Amino acid sequence: LNLPDPGTWPPHAARQVRLTCIDDRLSSAPFVARHGPAYEVRLAGGALALTDERRDVAIREILVPKALGPLETVWLEMHLACGAVDLAGYRFSALEEERQGLLAILRRAEIVVRDAVPGVMIRTRLVTPTGDDAPGVL
Ligand SMILES: [Zn+2]
Repeated sequence: LNLPDPGTWPPHAARQVRLTCIDDRLSSAPFVARHGPAYEVRLAGGALALTDERRDVAIREILVPKALGPLETVWLEMHLACGAVDLAGYRFSALEEERQGLLAILRRAEIVVRDAVPGVMIRTRLVTPTGDDAPGVL
């Protein structure tokens, strides 16, 4: 086994963490292209996890990058047409209603992180199922 010398591995570059959904269609590339490298935490529904029984798990995952180096920004992300949101019982009859519903969840998640992870900027992001910024949002 020929492993590289650990001393040659690059240091952590990201100063932000992004909590997003596990959806297989959801690409990280649009985020990284626009905002740079980020630690990535994936839980079903993304920021939804901060508003249900998975809250402590989500906070623990967000705190790991903070333990590894300076953490400036926590991104909370959700996407349109999310199966986890549907499974959680949310029902939206139109795109605008879905958009408003997801933004309300993001606002609740933001309050949770503000209390649990002081001293970081919190930003929210609503995206399409493929990870691009959702039109007309934020
Ligand atoms: Zn999803």
